Order: sequence, then C-alpha cells, then structure tokens
Amino acid sequence: MIFSDVVVVIMLYSFVYIAYLATLRHPRNWYTIPSGEKALVTLLLILNILFCSVSATVFDYVALLVSSIFLIFMFLIIGAPAFAMVPKSSTLWEFFALYSDRLVLGLIPIVGITSYWLSNTKLHALFGTAIFIELLWILRLHLANRNRNQQLLNTHSLSVLQTQAADRLEDFIGKHKIDELIRVDNELYWSGCSKTSPPCPVNYYVNKLGLNTPSCCLEHMKELCHTVDQVLTDLEIPHWIDGGTLLGAVREKGSFLAWEDDVDVSFMLDESANWGRFVSELRSILHQCGHKVTTSNKNRTIFVYYSAPTYWLGGLEHYRYRGEIRIDLVCFQLSESFGEKVLERHSSKGAMEQTENRRYGVPVEMLLPTETIELQGKMVSCPKDPDTYLRVIYGNYTNVEYTYVDNHAALSRKNIDEVGRA
Ligand SMILES: [Zn+2]
Repeated sequence: MIFSDVVVVIMLYSFVYIAYLATLRHPRNWYTIPSGEKALVTLLLILNILFCSVSATVFDYVALLVSSIFLIFMFLIIGAPAFAMVPKSSTLWEFFALYSDRLVLGLIPIVGITSYWLSNTKLHALFGTAIFIELLWILRLHLANRNRNQQLLNTHSLSVLQTQAADRLEDFIGKHKIDELIRVDNELYWSGCSKTSPPCPVNYYVNKLGLNTPSCCLEHMKELCHTVDQVLTDLEIPHWIDGGTLLGAVREKGSFLAWEDDVDVSFMLDESANWGRFVSELRSILHQCGHKVTTSNKNRTIFVYYSAPTYWLGGLEHYRYRGEIRIDLVCFQLSESFGEKVLERHSSKGAMEQTENRRYGVPVEMLLPTETIELQGKMVSCPKDPDTYLRVIYGNYTNVEYTYVDNHAALSRKNIDEVGRA
C-alpha cells in the first residue's frame, strides 16, 4: 500500500514537472502561457496536493497546507529563469532565478525537520522526488559549467562593467552573482559559454544590468546567423536580417550592437508553400547543423538555438536555463493592403503599420528583392532599402536607443556608447 502510494506520488509530481516545463517556452519567447496549458498544470498541482492530504479515512489539513506551500516554492524556483527573461519582469523572478540553487539547498534542512514531525509517507515521497530532481539539475549544471572557456574581457566591455558598477566592482559582481567573471593576476576574464555548457544569462546581463553582450555569446550569435543565412540562401527562400541585427549591420558598420540579446532574421514564404512542411524541412537541416529548433505556429515564428537539439526531458529542461543564444526567424507573407502590395507578419514590430488583414507590414519594394550587407565579416541578406525600413521600425535610428534595457542601466551606459561612436 505504502509502496504504491510512493509510486503514485513520483508519477504525479513527474507529470506536473513535465507539464510545467513545457509551458515555460512561452515566457522565454515573451508570449503569455495559453489558458489550456495553465489549466493543465493547475489541475495536476491540485491532484498532487489532494493525493498527499486526502485518503479514505482522513483529511490531513496540515499536509494540504505544507504540500501547497512546498509546491508553490518549487515552481517559483523552476519557472524563475524563464519568467525573468520577460522584459520588465518582477524582481521576485530575478531573485528566484539568481539564487535558485541556494534556495534548494536551504530548503533541504527545512524539509528534513518537517518530515520528522509529520508522519505522512506521501508527503515524504513528494519532498524526496522534488528535491531529487532539483539536486540532479544543480549537479548537471555544475558539471556542464566546466565546459566554459576563459577569455580576457575587452576594453569596451570592461569600461561598461566599471560604469554600471559605479567603481564598486567587487560588490556589483557579488550582488548580481556574475559567476562568469574571474580575476586572474589582476586581470578580469570571462568564463565563456560553449556548445556544451549552459548559456550565459545574456538577458539579465544586457537588459537588467546594462552590460555588453559577452564576446562568447556574440561569437555564437555570429556563427548561428551565418549558418541560418546560408541555409535559407541554399533553399532559395527570400530572407533578410531584421530588427536590432539589421540596425547593428547598418549603424555599427557590420557589427552586432554591443548589447545584442538575440538575432533577428525574417523570411518570405509563398502563399502556396505549406508552413508545416517548410518548418519540418528547415528543422531537419538545422538539426544536422547541430541546432535546436522550436516554433510558434500561431505567430509564424521559428526559433533556432545555438545549443544542440535535445529530445524528451532534456529538450524541456532547456527552458530552465537562465539564457540562450537564439535567432527569431519571423515569417512574412505577400498580401494586399489598401490597394498596395505589402509583406506582412503576424506580430507587431516597432512602429510597423497595421494592414487590412490586421497584421503588420511594409510595402514589398522596401524589402524585396533583397540586397546584401556585411555582418560580422560575412555578406548576409538584407532588405532592399534598409534605411527606410529601419526608420519604419525605430524612427530616427541613428540615435542610440536601448529598446529593452532597463532605463537606469541604459542611461549609465549611454555616454560610453556615444563616445565610442564619435
Ligand atoms: Zn556566453
């Protein structure tokens, strides 16, 4: 009886853990979680709590309370890295993302004492299963972090770091747990991410702290961007670098923005083309190139990651990382709006106008036929008229603006970036 209870608890917790991980892909892409997925996770959580506190003979109120608090706490820890990636996210998410491992380790004695006082086997099994999964995750992160490569911090990154730290560097590094920074012989090194290490938490460093994108991440963004450009060229799919990536190529004369957090590429798919078939063909090619791919069919967007494709639980646990190197590959389609031929996308971008179909678009001749532009040492595909297109998205783009960087952090770094450009 007791053994079967334990098995049921392990299964119930595993189900809710997996269902919850699957929902985390939405906040990572800055989308809200669909209500169906939210309802499934809530239902599974309630089942977990009820199974631990209700039996044929008793209703254990203490177990109900304890299991509820425990599960909420665990799910704050597990979800925090994904929710903290949403622009202007709550500081609660940042706190849980930053200190997740310490919070889990701190929880162990509390859970131990609670288990000693409460003789509820199902509750013990719940604690054991959840903590076991967390310890395994922390151990795997720790081992994978050994696959990082040290590189000297460049002068610009160092001066941005010193400015944001207001010359109290050690305090700043400690407060924000910038574990990648290592001091060797009075020189600062960055412990750079690799294909087999967890990614650097780029979003946090760039958008919250106002630091430069680490050079390891920029290097991987470059590699990913060049690969995707080549694959789309080979498939004869009209495409162009977009958003901040295009802005970097034009304004920074062939470089990424120093605070780039992802790569934007868009492409045009013919009305006659089958979306599902195109996605599966592209996914198969990019898997062969060693990249993980996910999609949002609703927004007609394909996400290509620098990290290797992973399957099953590994694929879902990817959503627990505090960062990622990714290309947002957005689909445009040919259409007509107010008597003009336009290329339109499902989601809005900058000040792009709404079309007759309630999508967002620009005149075809602004984008097609595409031209090429230098980006990080290679000619890549870009819009026919990048200047006008950038003005549609960003207005007067020659001024330095920081779209997603926190206001305070943006203000501090503005001087350094302006001087660097003068
Ligand atoms: Zn990195």
